[in-house]
Amino acid sequence: MKKSIITTLLMLCSLVSGAQQTMDEFISELMAKMTVDEKVGQLNLLPAGNITTGIRKDSPILDLISQGKLGAILNMKGFDNIRQLQEAAVNRSRLGIPLIIGMDVIHGYETVFPIPLAQSCSWDLEGIEQAARIAAKEATADGVNWTYSPMVDIALDARWGRIAEGSGEDPFLGSRIAEAMVRGYQGSFGPENMMACVKHYALYGAAEAGRDYNTVDMSRIRMYNQFFPPYEAAAKAGAGSFMTSFNVVDYVPATANKWLLDDVLRRQWGWDGFVVTDYGSIGEMTQHGIGDLQQSAALALKAGTDMDMCAEGYVKTLAKSVKEGRVSMAELDKACRRVLEAKYKLGLFSDPYRFLDQSRRQRDVFTAENRRAARDMAAETFVLLKNEGGLLPLKRQGRIALIGPMADNRVNMTGTWSVSAVNDQYNTLKEAMERAVSGKATVLCTQGCNFTSDSVLQAGGSHYRMTPWGDAELLKAEALEIAHRADVIVCAMGEEAEMSGESASRSDLEMFDVQRELLEALLLLKKPLVLLHFSGRPTVLTWEQQHVPAIMNVWFGGSEAGDAICDVLFGDKVPSGKLTVSMPQTTGQEPLYYNQLPTGRPIGEGAPSFSKFSSNYLDVRNDPLYPFGYGLSYTTFEYGDIRLNGRTASVTVTNTGHYDADEIVQLYIHDVFASISRPVKELKGFQRIHLKAGESREVKFEITDDLLKFYNYHLDYVLEPGDFEIMIGPDSSLKHLKKTILTVR
Ligand code: BGC
Repeated sequence: MKKSIITTLLMLCSLVSGAQQTMDEFISELMAKMTVDEKVGQLNLLPAGNITTGIRKDSPILDLISQGKLGAILNMKGFDNIRQLQEAAVNRSRLGIPLIIGMDVIHGYETVFPIPLAQSCSWDLEGIEQAARIAAKEATADGVNWTYSPMVDIALDARWGRIAEGSGEDPFLGSRIAEAMVRGYQGSFGPENMMACVKHYALYGAAEAGRDYNTVDMSRIRMYNQFFPPYEAAAKAGAGSFMTSFNVVDYVPATANKWLLDDVLRRQWGWDGFVVTDYGSIGEMTQHGIGDLQQSAALALKAGTDMDMCAEGYVKTLAKSVKEGRVSMAELDKACRRVLEAKYKLGLFSDPYRFLDQSRRQRDVFTAENRRAARDMAAETFVLLKNEGGLLPLKRQGRIALIGPMADNRVNMTGTWSVSAVNDQYNTLKEAMERAVSGKATVLCTQGCNFTSDSVLQAGGSHYRMTPWGDAELLKAEALEIAHRADVIVCAMGEEAEMSGESASRSDLEMFDVQRELLEALLLLKKPLVLLHFSGRPTVLTWEQQHVPAIMNVWFGGSEAGDAICDVLFGDKVPSGKLTVSMPQTTGQEPLYYNQLPTGRPIGEGAPSFSKFSSNYLDVRNDPLYPFGYGLSYTTFEYGDIRLNGRTASVTVTNTGHYDADEIVQLYIHDVFASISRPVKELKGFQRIHLKAGESREVKFEITDDLLKFYNYHLDYVLEPGDFEIMIGPDSSLKHLKKTILTVR
């Protein structure tokens, strides 16, 4: 019966020409049949729970679906479960409207790619797009059709744990990555694509003091120039949905901020998708001091928020609010239409089971091909921070002591938000290393220490990925024993996976006590020592930089991280990752970012000492320990001077070392004088190039008007003629950049 309503509507509408018109007519006809409750039901999004053994017939979720009170579900894994819910929507609800099936597929599905921050350090847009495409292919094979990704929040403060989930501190790079991910997920909305959800709109990454869910307050000039670009880029790339952020913007919760949603997102950027709240955000408006659930829900709907994630504010109060005249029927209709449009674009009305093809799991999920892509991508994300005397790559010989809490740690390998990972499918670092050196070298492995001496801190940071608590003395003694016998020591240390990500802020970014102590003890043995540092954020490695001969930041590299680390460690691949976040010398420098405004009392990059009455600290210089864009290779590159030909800037880059390798060439621009103060430099271009040992290449950048424009005091997007410093080099530090001046008349 219901199927036939939808089918008849589709047939009638397909007689009308034009895709948009067909969709509009179809939805209008459908909505004409909907009651207020059914319209509200489409705006309701709830978790279906972690159901692994099939859904009970009397499940409240099934009841809600049957009554038309649920438009979408989130975070339920499993083909059969999803099929059961979709069947209930199609067969049991009065109008048979299919569900959207959402999930946090943030960096891969069962094939887990590196955490997003790590991926950004590859600066490899094609690779990132491919990672998103593979994630979509795997997730849709299991019935998922909507992902809460990409997260495009600019993050300047490393204390904020969610810096792990974004693309770092730069709006230009962040925008290109946002576009690539939207393209990768959505493709052309085929059965192997899922709808993207851009989050968290807006400014979530600017939480004060790096404390998650905290207050945000900033000027609109800063929003437009520094924080909005990735959201705008994702919107213009056609992302199907946006998620509001937990924070206030201009003192109004983002979820109820009409300026943000209607004026900026929809009108200025011309975006036409649907907006969902973050988890429970409508309910949290009460905590923000805005009103009770009914008031909050009404304000959110009026502001342009279409779907309510998990607060049940809409489903519990909107019908009443319509009756009382607190929201209009037109406002409810607008939201309902946008959600139905998303279902239409996903092709769910033509075939509600489009993403439920049982034959696909075997063919598409965790395949050798997908794993290969994840391994290649992971190898590109590692950032070599130090390599004294060319210690790396290691030779496959002798005895290698692999020591540290990440050495043989399965649950923590894949990183935060890898909720679909299947732990026993992939290798730990130890397992991968044993295979990588098999027959040539011996791996001696032990944990060496807990993550920290504070068991409460470790438990908090474990969340659901518990590493058994070990006896500190015994662990250390065993580590020293195997280290004594080894020719080289590889330390696998750092954070637990859930020490970054949501609700994982840290006030101290130094390496944890017991890990530092163990490092010190191992260094006393005077053997070659490599630190593989696992983290979901930039941490403070100042002591390590001073004492450890070789350091590589490996982030959390996903399900194939073990093999990928070995690929680079033993020289089958050459490291090429470059930081997309500044790494501080001390936690107190945070928020630390390269594209800062000049001050009236600048001290200049690389100043050797404290300078009274300048903008600096008594106890640490302003510079980062490792700057944005930084990363070493096993080879070396030389940059020639910049040649300017009209608006084309070019440099010759030469691989002067002994390895064929990739280099990420970076273009920065500084507007010397403008009507508002402009950042000391801003990334405006980059190219990832491959050079054989000894090879040279001319790299060209076209300086378009767009690269020189900015939002002025009146928020007009303008190009102001004058001088622009053009800088090209291997990272953002002035000492490494070649410079010239472009005069625009
Ligand atoms: C997070 C979102 C996520 C959502 C659904 C929230 O707590 O902030 O990023 O997509 O939960 O799981």
